Amino acid sequence: MRSLRPIHVIGGGLAGSEAAWQIARRGVSVVLHEMRPVRSTAVHKTGHFAELVCSNSFRSDDADGSAIGLLHAEMRRLDSLVLHTADVHKLPAGGALAVDRDGFAGAITAALESEPLIDIRREEILEPPAEWDNVIIATGPLTSPALAETLSRQTGEAALAFFDAIAPIVHRDSIDFDVVWFQSRYDKAGPGGSGADYINCPLTRTQYDAFIDALLAGEKTAFHDFEAATPYFDGCLPIEIMAERGRETLRHGPMKPFGLTDPHRPGQKPYAVVQLRQDNKLGTLFNMVGFQTKLKHGEQARIFRTIPGLGNAEFARLGGLHRNTFLNSPKLLDATLRLNTAPRLRFAGQITGCEGYVESAAIGLLAGRFAAAERLGDTPALPPPTTAHGALIRHITGGHIETIDKGPRSFQPMNINFGLLPPLACGTRRDARKQALCARALADLDSWIGAAMPHAAE
Ligand SMILES: Cc1cc2nc3c(=O)[nH]c(=O)nc-3n(C[C@H](O)[C@H](O)[C@H](O)COP(=O)(O)OP(=O)(O)OC[C@H]3O[C@@H](n4cnc5c(N)ncnc54)[C@H](O)[C@@H]3O)c2cc1C
Repeated sequence: MRSLRPIHVIGGGLAGSEAAWQIARRGVSVVLHEMRPVRSTAVHKTGHFAELVCSNSFRSDDADGSAIGLLHAEMRRLDSLVLHTADVHKLPAGGALAVDRDGFAGAITAALESEPLIDIRREEILEPPAEWDNVIIATGPLTSPALAETLSRQTGEAALAFFDAIAPIVHRDSIDFDVVWFQSRYDKAGPGGSGADYINCPLTRTQYDAFIDALLAGEKTAFHDFEAATPYFDGCLPIEIMAERGRETLRHGPMKPFGLTDPHRPGQKPYAVVQLRQDNKLGTLFNMVGFQTKLKHGEQARIFRTIPGLGNAEFARLGGLHRNTFLNSPKLLDATLRLNTAPRLRFAGQITGCEGYVESAAIGLLAGRFAAAERLGDTPALPPPTTAHGALIRHITGGHIETIDKGPRSFQPMNINFGLLPPLACGTRRDARKQALCARALADLDSWIGAAMPHAAE
């Protein structure tokens, strides 16, 4: 075996953990620098690698009809530590892949700690030393201020910020089961689910109207001056902001009543429904789906207890609001995620401008493979643009078209979606289009794995 200098990975979140794993799988040694638990962020609670800071869901696992399900399928084929561990620790969640967060992060930590090629150092990196010639920076949306300052200097721009909000978690034994019921929308079972995985709280029209009034009037967390101009990420809007956009917006979003029948009142269709999804393996905690909020804590408890079934709800965690930072990647990074002005530095995860646990891990997976290929003297090969991985990385590194208008830059964090994949040739029926896009992606990915990644299958 050749003796190769290690690759340095900074940050052991979803992206850094996956990157380190992929590098080690290729026989290259890694030093993984993680600042927790020595120094934490505003939202992490443990010293575990790949801690999930909010929802415990990896979203839809439908590899035939959803872009995120396709990304899951591709990651499984690419020997992803994150997906493999999620599969082992999955919880019932209808069509979604949800995990027991402690079991998941504990298993990722154990896997990394027991890998002989990975040297773990619990320390904050303020600036990657000049002698590190192959570095992956995967420090996420809450990159420590000192490193953020270094990056800002190095890239010549201030990182753009936006807000992410987190949803409350309720103790199951404080929920009134004479009012609520278990059911997944349209009774969909999904991976490991039963078709009855969500707790549903029904609202009449009068109750919904009163709830919207309370949200609109509720006291919100104040912004700092420097945050005042920061926009929201649309996929994670606080409920009170949705309510401000229109009284019916929530009924068409997280509170939609469709595909659900109230067994306590079978003849009466609810006007709106609040859903809660299992949050831990024991089934003692449930999170309020889509209920990210920046209401003050006292207001959250008061207003959410007006929801039928939650009159005596005890909250294990209330919602909150946090700033996020990411690079203007289309301008700053090359096709394999290296900083144009300092190619020894490669970026991965949410700091590159992808959004979500799975997308961050997927970009970590690619960054790890690219860095290892470079170290082994190979040319990193990009996944085809027709795959979810290929589409996502191209969006980050150049697929996005900058607005020609003056004002804030238009590159925004992006979840994987079918709009990022090249369209099919004409003639595919609309209803068959998603399936065809998924089938094409997986076939192209298989060819890429076979042809382009000589070190892929040790
Ligand atoms: C409040 C909030 C709520 C969110 N909710 C969701 C959600 O519900 N669903 C979802 O899919 N995504 C959610 N996200 C996005 C989510 O954080 C990311 O998708 C994912 O965690 C990003 O992975 P990452 O590896 O890039 O960053 P992270 O998982 O955050 O990992 C970065 C790691 O780097 C470490 N670190 C930071 N600076 C340094 C340093 N200088 N030196 C050493 N280590 C350092 C941190 O301790 C951390 O462990 C949320 C984000 C926030 C902020």
